[in-house]
Amino acid sequence: MEELKKTVKVPESEQLQSVYSLKFEDLQDWLKEQGEPKFRATQIFEWLYQKRVTSFEQMSNLSKDLREKLANSFTITTLKIVTRQVSSDGTVKFLFELHDGYSIETVVMRHDYGNSVCVTTQVGCRLGCTFCASTLGGLKRNLEAGEIVAQVLESQRAMDEVEERVSSVVVMGIGEPFDNYDELVPFLKTINHEKGLNIGARHITVSTSGVVPKIYKFADEKMQINFAISLHAPTTEIRSKLMPVNRAWPLEKLMDSIRYYIETTGRRVTFEYGLFGGVNDQEEHAELLADLIKGVKCHVNLIPVNYVLERDYVRTPREQIFAFEKVLKNRGVNVTIRREQGHDIDAACGQLRAKERKEETR
Ligand code: SF4
Repeated sequence: MEELKKTVKVPESEQLQSVYSLKFEDLQDWLKEQGEPKFRATQIFEWLYQKRVTSFEQMSNLSKDLREKLANSFTITTLKIVTRQVSSDGTVKFLFELHDGYSIETVVMRHDYGNSVCVTTQVGCRLGCTFCASTLGGLKRNLEAGEIVAQVLESQRAMDEVEERVSSVVVMGIGEPFDNYDELVPFLKTINHEKGLNIGARHITVSTSGVVPKIYKFADEKMQINFAISLHAPTTEIRSKLMPVNRAWPLEKLMDSIRYYIETTGRRVTFEYGLFGGVNDQEEHAELLADLIKGVKCHVNLIPVNYVLERDYVRTPREQIFAFEKVLKNRGVNVTIRREQGHDIDAACGQLRAKERKEETR
């Protein structure tokens, strides 16, 4: 994986808020404060998200005065492309540099049914999952909503080159989205907004490692988006070894919050289950998993882990993956095995970053 870098630091105070961080309603409120009519918000959103301009100056149907007010109040976030790698299967991985010199990565996966962008929500992560290299340097900072939106916009600009559209977004890149909840929600609302990027709720997926209080909060937002949980273990003992987050919010509490989510939203959830050789991948583990999720409206996504790590996690043999899947199927569980994309550019995505990542700071 690419390195997280930090080069130049721009003090926060010198940075104006990103206009992409404003939800449609926030922009309407700001316009009202400026004595401008509400419909200007539609015009501005069209410039930002449909025409995808990079300066307020280009918003030619706004008065000069309003363009100046916008420029004095906000920035249009630009992500500097450090590298853009394209895999043999079409997957594109960007390494972007942020205004303060940190770097983040974003992956665009090309499917027959559309293009999906996997976004990053934090620089680093503090959750400390033992299989994940994103955690080695801890959390550097949260991304602003606008910086997450900008990843989708840059991806769409790349798709513009081939006259295609970003049709879905998965929030499964680096970071724990619910550890940056207050920026996550405006991001989701903007990409979903019909005047924004207009990506349908059913085409947006958020994945969490299990920050239980935020699962309750998220359920109450009642957004009709897809929700995935990185489960990775059938018992609380195994989960605590893999994911320290389980010590704060044990499996039983996590399952309670998931039941609440399903009851509140009426949506099913997806359980991501990484198979780690000898740790959680035996038939007995599959039986325990089937017991754990019995009666829960869900889908299980098995993720064969392909990397051998310094922590001695090893790959599950192919026949064992199928044996695991078979137990679940026999127990009536809706299950699939994930096909990885972008292997040759290290673009595996999905709350599971089992590859050494080095971090450099200035
Ligand atoms: S898997 Fe996700 S939540 Fe866990 S440490 Fe890595 S980025 Fe953080």
